[in-house]
Amino acid sequence: MTGYSSLKRIFEIIVDLSNLTPELAKEKYSEFPSLASHIAILFSRDYLHDVLSRLELQLRIVESYDPPIRPALDPYSSTQLGIFSKNFSDWEIGRLLNYPACCIDSFSEELRYGLDSKHLEELNTIKEEVVFVTTAGFVPHSIFCKEASESALIGLLKLDALKVLNDLEKELARRLPHAHPEYQKHYYDMLIPDV
Ligand SMILES: [Zn+2]
Repeated sequence: MTGYSSLKRIFEIIVDLSNLTPELAKEKYSEFPSLASHIAILFSRDYLHDVLSRLELQLRIVESYDPPIRPALDPYSSTQLGIFSKNFSDWEIGRLLNYPACCIDSFSEELRYGLDSKHLEELNTIKEEVVFVTTAGFVPHSIFCKEASESALIGLLKLDALKVLNDLEKELARRLPHAHPEYQKHYYDMLIPDV
């Protein structure tokens, strides 16, 4: 997957949920039934009228930058969809966002709520000059998680490859303004090795 195809996958699920009854949503998305039916209910009450157009714009912008790693979903849309809500399990939210099971387990069972000293230890074993990048909010079980890498959620990038990600973050912030305090121009998390 590329950053674009990874985002497109989520977008297509949200579009699909906008057309499903809550019962069908629950049945079809059996890995995140509560969240899927919640989103279908919000669509049926017309509470999400601006979310599809914002996500479509985000998708177009991401397509034009073609980043190797998926940026975080538009924070305004995530808030509206219930992704930051404590009403849904880490598992359901993770599965909607295509997070691998191994990483969701480590996030919720070991309470690894951010990039930590274990990730840094792994990064320091790499001899090349690279930066470790993740989709903002995603915490892999290991910086070497194969499944997360294949889903375009993590990657090891050379310093000069970071510019495209920084430019993308700036453009997303400019064209999709939102009020979430923690995610201003912040669509990626990065970890730099000790020197
Ligand atoms: Zn993993």
